Amino acid sequence: MDKISEIFGNSLFNDKVMRERLPKIVYCKLQNTIKEGNSLEADVADVVANAMKDWAVEKGATHFTHWFQPMTGKTAEKHEALFTIEECGNVIEEFSGKNLVVGEGDASSFPNGGLRATFEARGYTVWDCTSPAFLKEKDGTVTLCIPTAFCSYNGEALDKKTPLLRSMQAVEKSVKRILKFFGDEPLRVFSNVGAEQEYFLIDKRLYQQRKDIIYTGRTLFGASAPKGQDLRDHYYGSIKERIYAFMKDIDKELWKLGVPVKTKHNEVAPGQHEIVPIFSTVNIATDQNQVIIEMLETVANRHDLVCLLHEKPFAGINGSGKHNNWSLSTSDGKNLLDPGESPIENTQFLVFLSAVIKAVDDYPELLRLSASSYTNDFRLGGHEAPPAIISLFVGEQLEEVMQQIEIGGLNTFKTSKRLKTGVITLPDLHKDVTDRNRTSPFAFNGNKFEFRMIGSSQSLAGPNIILNTIVSDTLNEFADELEQSTNLAEGLKNLIHKTIKKHRRIIFNGNGYSEEWVTEAKSRNLPILPSVVDAIPHFITEKTIQLFTRNKVLDENEIKSRYEIMLEDYCSRARIEAATMLHMVNKQIIPATIKYSNEISTYLNNIRQTKITVNLKHQERLLTVISKFVDEIYNNMIKLQQSLDKANNIGDLYEKAKQFRNEVLVNMSELRKPCDEIELLVSKELWPFPTYGDMLFRV
Ligand code: ADP
Ligand code: MG
Repeated sequence: MDKISEIFGNSLFNDKVMRERLPKIVYCKLQNTIKEGNSLEADVADVVANAMKDWAVEKGATHFTHWFQPMTGKTAEKHEALFTIEECGNVIEEFSGKNLVVGEGDASSFPNGGLRATFEARGYTVWDCTSPAFLKEKDGTVTLCIPTAFCSYNGEALDKKTPLLRSMQAVEKSVKRILKFFGDEPLRVFSNVGAEQEYFLIDKRLYQQRKDIIYTGRTLFGASAPKGQDLRDHYYGSIKERIYAFMKDIDKELWKLGVPVKTKHNEVAPGQHEIVPIFSTVNIATDQNQVIIEMLETVANRHDLVCLLHEKPFAGINGSGKHNNWSLSTSDGKNLLDPGESPIENTQFLVFLSAVIKAVDDYPELLRLSASSYTNDFRLGGHEAPPAIISLFVGEQLEEVMQQIEIGGLNTFKTSKRLKTGVITLPDLHKDVTDRNRTSPFAFNGNKFEFRMIGSSQSLAGPNIILNTIVSDTLNEFADELEQSTNLAEGLKNLIHKTIKKHRRIIFNGNGYSEEWVTEAKSRNLPILPSVVDAIPHFITEKTIQLFTRNKVLDENEIKSRYEIMLEDYCSRARIEAATMLHMVNKQIIPATIKYSNEISTYLNNIRQTKITVNLKHQERLLTVISKFVDEIYNNMIKLQQSLDKANNIGDLYEKAKQFRNEVLVNMSELRKPCDEIELLVSKELWPFPTYGDMLFRV
């Protein structure tokens, strides 16, 4: 294995390469944009493009692509060869400044929520120099990938990156306004994220036999295996050799791309694992997460495995999330969410903490929505996944701080806490400011907030756009108020006191998985939105439109187009799942069941013909039970088909989504039940696809 320090970033056009290859003046101008956030000067592009091309070609690149993140939640790319033909007919490698800065293509084939029609389809990809270009190697072809934003002919955002960058700008500006009151004027303020990515691995040969996973990413049928995660022996368990080989490759490929993956371990469910890079700014972390996802899929394939990123690939065991550790920091390296030794005396920290508390309490529906998707709905609220109710965990120490703020006494707080194990030979430790609360969707984690609701297949952009925007908005409100204050110290004290008192209801440190919490949340008037369909309408309320436009993150057209895209996505996914189920029942489950029933009846006939007295009671009963389930399957199929037809005929997108959720999805689970029962009865040889046991325990 190569030394990490020798391979790290070798495929990245990073600061070191730029410093080496760019003329000093161009390097400085580019850094002026990357590091200082100023606009890009027009004359740098040609020089940078040329240096980028030389570097890439030396490393074997033949193509370049503008790499962007349309509203599919995945990445997109259109490859162009890096050459031109000169007048004399000579072919030379070429890549111009224009090639680097802008690309043009058809935007109407991407989800655009009505912003682009086929007759006015133009879309542009625009270079985001704040996220470094990288080389993607696939089957010997090396491609220079340039991270870009994607917008329409009129400049409307058609992607996830553009509003994310706008939200970073918004929160940077408002944090700076607050820091000024504390006499701090840092050059830059960043919102950061470190994302923990969970995933499943299954054997490729088994995957190929599961139409449901192929079409939808999850199993639509499958009885539980005799063993699931009952023994809790997989979490942090010793990693199997085949998985180790996969993880070794993944680490290496990602290190080459400068993705600082640091932590890996087995997760709770059998076949489930986690990979975590060191945090960076939300823009880079979001790009890197897309690279991680793509690499997980590519490298798995090389190892005859398939990586499942669906939030709930298997019923009855844990699903996969993407924990979003979010913080704010300055270019001087200060973490603004660090409570320090004595949080109660740390007014600046308390202002940021109160801002997050207020933002979460003011916009729980948007946070809920940002972690919502058709696929994540199957995960939330079950098996160690946070419930679909937004609350905030702050832990014991900050809870004490808050109580003291509310009653106004600031002196009794104890800061230093030691962790004692009771074993003399073990060292005493400094206790973390907070314990872990795995049941909370949004937990303060010592010096960052961990948003645990996000689904494993989601882009990090959505949740961080919301987080940045709601916190930015709140900080601006604070700054407006503080600017009016004649006595700053008093003003700050009142602001913190008032905010915490008013928004305490969002704080919940108890068990978020319990039934009591649902009742308690109702009595606190917290919104409970069980499905993404309940959350989507909150995206187009007047309050949301005002929020996004005030912070210049999305305009009204962009908001409405995204609303449509979310609904379209929901309906399409539900329709594909229902169609896949009907297909599998008709083509696989029923034929296998008939075959097995036939085997039993042939056996019964044969025995009867021998005239030997044998007790055939159990075999007869098996046949009866199976045909009873077959009957149930046929009835449930008819119901599913009818509800699906009804949904397909509804024009209004929101009503359509409601029909899918209220009827189609219910009929889908009804259809699954007798099929899973039959699976337990039909012989292993005849069952038409791999079982849960095969997929979860045979890697
Ligand atoms: P856990 O112990 O909760 O499973 P991990 O170590 O797996 O946590 O992941 C924690 C993530 O949080 C990492 O990506 C880490 O870099 C990130 N992180 C640490 N400090 C910060 C911070 N100040 N801001 C944002 N992310 C952070
Ligand atoms: Mg972790």
